[in-house]
Amino acid sequence: MKTAEEYRKQLYGMRANIHVGGERLSRDDPRLIQPINVVASTFDAAQEPEFEGVATATSHLSGEKINRFCNIHCSVEDLLHKQRMTRMLCHRAGGCIQRCMGIDATNALSVITYDTDQKYGTEYHKRFLTFLEYFQKEDIVANCAQTDGKGDRSKRPHEQVDPDLYLRIVERKSDGIVVRGSKWHNTMAPYAQEIIVVPTRSLTKEESDWAVAFAVPGDAEGVHQIVRLASMRPRKHLKAPIATFGDAESFTVFDNVFVPWQRVFLCGETDMGGRLALQFAEFHRHSYTGCKPSISDIIMGATALAAEYNGVQNAQHIRMKLAHLIGVGELVNAAGIAAAYHSTKTPSGTYIPNSIFVNVGRRLAGENIFHEWEILCDVAGGVYATLPFEEDWYSEDTRKYLEKYIMRNPRVSAENQHRLFRLISDLLASHWSGVELAGQYHGGGSPIMETIGLLRDYDLRPKVDLVKYLAGISLDDPQG
Ligand SMILES: Cc1cc2nc3c(=O)[nH]c(=O)nc-3n(C[C@H](O)[C@H](O)[C@H](O)COP(=O)(O)OP(=O)(O)OC[C@H]3O[C@@H](n4cnc5c(N)ncnc54)[C@H](O)[C@@H]3O)c2cc1C
Repeated sequence: MKTAEEYRKQLYGMRANIHVGGERLSRDDPRLIQPINVVASTFDAAQEPEFEGVATATSHLSGEKINRFCNIHCSVEDLLHKQRMTRMLCHRAGGCIQRCMGIDATNALSVITYDTDQKYGTEYHKRFLTFLEYFQKEDIVANCAQTDGKGDRSKRPHEQVDPDLYLRIVERKSDGIVVRGSKWHNTMAPYAQEIIVVPTRSLTKEESDWAVAFAVPGDAEGVHQIVRLASMRPRKHLKAPIATFGDAESFTVFDNVFVPWQRVFLCGETDMGGRLALQFAEFHRHSYTGCKPSISDIIMGATALAAEYNGVQNAQHIRMKLAHLIGVGELVNAAGIAAAYHSTKTPSGTYIPNSIFVNVGRRLAGENIFHEWEILCDVAGGVYATLPFEEDWYSEDTRKYLEKYIMRNPRVSAENQHRLFRLISDLLASHWSGVELAGQYHGGGSPIMETIGLLRDYDLRPKVDLVKYLAGISLDDPQG
């Protein structure tokens, strides 16, 4: 396993293909430090005894100890540990841990490359295993680039005015393929060593050029990352863990990128392209059953502490709101546990979480996230939004006023009241929080996508038959 320092060092050696605000940055640019801190914390955790067996796993290929983010789920316990690790690490980072993209993509590839080989006599799984060996040994961080620009949403990939609006194969050569297109919203792609590309959606027979999956280094020739950074406001005086983290999403352009065959994991098999899109989404929704409860935990803790500092912790409406937060967080978590217990061992040996439970869990999380933040906004009052800047708390002219009038619960020092409301300000009124909120709503698929998944996979017939039985309607009655 690598250390955080080794990870950072490797990033700093990559080609400068990161574009931010009209500038081209190398990965050691100070503006990337806070987002990188989040992923670096996944390397730190794997070294700590507290996380042994949770943030670490045993490779089914080499038998070596590896970072769990590089693991293939070979049991129910692996899925449970991944979910638990996600919840714990998101607590530490104060939000999305970001590295789940890679584990979800590799697990989906493990399942689908195997099945494709069985059906079409191809050799994708062998290639995938070679890639996985490197991935585990080098402790690689990968983004999964799934979301295409998609153009006109009412049209299929081959019906778009510009066929590049969904990433596609533009040339098949003796030594590999050339791909062109773009992928949007790629979390932590600027500080991932690898980008794993998978299709966005189901594909029809005419869409073999869009049925493509592969991995390329994040700085490969022809890959351009146009990045939006969203870090917490750095602090000068009031040091706190939350203020050291950040996030970044890249709009990743693939401008005629060459991918050698050994890194191509799907090339033209349209039916399997659709399955891969869905399989990645379902692994990712399972990851959400770990990260989303941790966000509820943070909102819940901040709500409870704000109520206590404001002296209203026993008010009934506040207790009801806290009960709602507990209900959402723990139900989403429970859905993830159920998805693991009801997982299926696929022919590849990889365990896939139960689709009904991942979809109900992720849907509940997405539908509630704005309401959860509304609860914190309500209970905290407006101070988090208008809180004077940190410097004013340390200025001779203004400090005495701020420290006198921030006071609520006399037992709590002015500094701690300030600390709490600055944290809530970071959570609710920062550049970071707006992006985080959208990620918690849309990431892994907007709630409508889980609804579609549920209606596709859920068998309503037994429920209808049950009601017929209760109503005394014969199941054999042609008029029933
Ligand atoms: C912070 C953040 C991080 C993310 N990280 C990643 C990442 O790392 N990798 C990645 O691949 N993706 C990532 N995503 C993308 C995420 O998965 C998508 O945002 C999500 O799938 C929705 O797709 P979209 O944004 O293109 O919205 P759209 O597809 O435009 O959906 C918007 C709405 O339009 C409607 N709609 C869309 N299509 C149709 C249709 N055909 N018929 C009827 N109604 C329709 C639906 O109501 C839908 O809710 C991230 C997103 C965010 C916000």
